[in-house]
Amino acid sequence: MGLRRDRELGMHRRITRRDLLNGIAIGTGFFGLQGSFPCLAWPDPNDGTAQQDRPGYYPPTLTGLRGSHPGSFEQAHNLRDGNFWKSAGKSIETGETYDLVVIGGGISGISAAYFWRKQKPETRILILDNHDDFGGHAKRNEFHVGGRMLLVNGGTWAIESPVPYSEVARGLMDDLGIQPAELAKKCYARETYKDLKQGVFFNKETFGSDKLVIGTASDMGNLGLADAERFLATMPLPEEVRRDVLRLETIKEDFFPALSSAEKKDRLTRISYKKYLLDVMKVDPRVVPLYQTQTHGLFGVGIDAVNALDCWALGLPGFKGLKLQAGPHPRMGYTPKGFTRPDNNYIYHFPDGNASIARMLVRRLVPDSAPGNTPEDIVTANLDYSRLDRKASPVRIRLSTIVVSAHHVGDPATSKEVSVTYLRDNKLQSVRAKSVVMACWNMMVPYLCPEFPERQKEALHYGVKVPLVYTSVAIRNWQSFHNLGIRQVSTPGMYHHELGLELAQNVGEFRSPESPDEPIVVRMERTPCLPGLSERDQHRAGRGDLLSTTFETFERNIRDQLGRVLSSGGFDPARDILAITVNRWPHGYAYEYNYLFDPEWPAGQSPCEIARKPFGRIAIANSDVAAAAYTDTAINEAYRAVQELVHS
Ligand SMILES: Cc1cc2nc3c(=O)[nH]c(=O)nc-3n(C[C@H](O)[C@H](O)[C@H](O)COP(=O)(O)OP(=O)(O)OC[C@H]3O[C@@H](n4cnc5c(N)ncnc54)[C@H](O)[C@@H]3O)c2cc1C
Repeated sequence: MGLRRDRELGMHRRITRRDLLNGIAIGTGFFGLQGSFPCLAWPDPNDGTAQQDRPGYYPPTLTGLRGSHPGSFEQAHNLRDGNFWKSAGKSIETGETYDLVVIGGGISGISAAYFWRKQKPETRILILDNHDDFGGHAKRNEFHVGGRMLLVNGGTWAIESPVPYSEVARGLMDDLGIQPAELAKKCYARETYKDLKQGVFFNKETFGSDKLVIGTASDMGNLGLADAERFLATMPLPEEVRRDVLRLETIKEDFFPALSSAEKKDRLTRISYKKYLLDVMKVDPRVVPLYQTQTHGLFGVGIDAVNALDCWALGLPGFKGLKLQAGPHPRMGYTPKGFTRPDNNYIYHFPDGNASIARMLVRRLVPDSAPGNTPEDIVTANLDYSRLDRKASPVRIRLSTIVVSAHHVGDPATSKEVSVTYLRDNKLQSVRAKSVVMACWNMMVPYLCPEFPERQKEALHYGVKVPLVYTSVAIRNWQSFHNLGIRQVSTPGMYHHELGLELAQNVGEFRSPESPDEPIVVRMERTPCLPGLSERDQHRAGRGDLLSTTFETFERNIRDQLGRVLSSGGFDPARDILAITVNRWPHGYAYEYNYLFDPEWPAGQSPCEIARKPFGRIAIANSDVAAAAYTDTAINEAYRAVQELVHS
């Protein structure tokens, strides 16, 4: 894209951007809307005050590159590459000792601290996290525009799970007063977008011309033939491709008439959905791009790397004629297996996603860090970060602190103490702990604990976390969505594969925008991968892509995409974009096993089961050791890890 296109897109516009306005928090009266979007942390008074203790420190309002933000991960990569200790120097003993040190301040780490305190109220806990905010993936993006607070999740979207919440996870929700179904009933503003539909944007690079189509291919199953053909005619696809899309969406043919339902299901777990479309249904290969990214949101890879039975469970088309019996199959993935269960209504999306759960847990652990005590009042509560790491507090949460080592003092078999070393503000420091919960990512553990058994270290390295990006864009108003009659658009083939308006709801004092004239947040999802490789290799390639992409490149693509999809509704990216937060997660979802590529391990022998064995005074939590990327699994594993330590 040239300079002229950059000007049309508004690349010269003064939204706050990390790479343009180093460290300056500004109000953007410039846009005619009063807004405030700081892009870097707060000034250093040069008196040794830790960043999180400085006046006004409040990371949820930071914009620019967030998620795994610059400064949070580089030393981890140095550790991986064997460079860290070459220049690290000697660590300073702080003299601090704790009953429990938790490494990783995501939902799993904070839950571990909560469970421990519940069983041992008189003890002292330190939680360490490398990011400048707690919550791990459960992060909050907060914008202030025209006197209004706009919220959206920067990662973990909702309380939801393919399996019912366990007694432990549900118990934690109950303790916090969270009743998902009731909150959903009470808070969702279902009227706000009631006339807006889903759409598909066909981009010219993939489909030959740019065109927004209102409705989706899956609507065709519910239309009569004439209406379906009329709808198909709106898609910029060649006649023979349209015919095959119609065939795929409406087909009732049984391709394996000689097989039983169980045999068909087994066969479908051994081929990808793409192979099913091309080799079994024999659709025109030009149909594939329309469906390729439909699995991205759940798996971070396309239909070339997801088995056909999993896609049946997700409701993708082409299976009606097979008459498959309801229910799971052992070779299905963890998430699709859950889709075969009857309806589960234990679902609720807080306006900032599960960041509200993290904030509620922190409020319990450090009671004066935020006002209030209900799931409703946490949504607008202003958390005081300077209270999180006070000497007198029984629970301390230390941010921007990367742990680089955790080893037993003496023989791990008999040792009563672990030395934990971390880097913070360029200083290497150590604390002592009677017990340690590793609630960080599995692949970090072997670098921090070289003393672990080799087999366990290998198992900890097995999973490759799913890279993904949730982008939040604050825009001046949502007239363009209203004019086009859409709320969500699938954009296969574009930089982000999906975009849409944040869910409308009113909870506590928080009010979602109601009128199309009001500012709002647009959510966009990007899942970089490399079709054709195994799932784990696709994730490695996607992670490389994310870590080498500058904010400027993200911004240019975001402006271009929103402009092309919405401009026929009056959207002008140069005028209407107020702020951009790119939540970049190179290490996103926990890796869930994919039997197209992974072996079927005997019971007890899968990598996650080997990985989660306790070692001396160190126990392992986090959702990676469940091989299931969900909040309930993060909580379940925290509980197990705490029990292992308490009872050993
Ligand atoms: C974009 C996205 C959307 C998601 N949406 C949902 C959803 O809607 N519903 C759902 O149930 N789940 C969702 N998930 C899954 C989510 O991962 C889990 O729900 C849960 O939040 C995981 O918690 P955790 O504590 O196990 O891991 P994390 O949240 O990843 O926390 C681990 C923390 O440990 C830190 N850490 C790692 N190494 C070190 C070190 N050496 N020193 C200090 N700290 C370290 C990490 O940086 C991180 O902050 C989503 C995940 C992503 C990425």
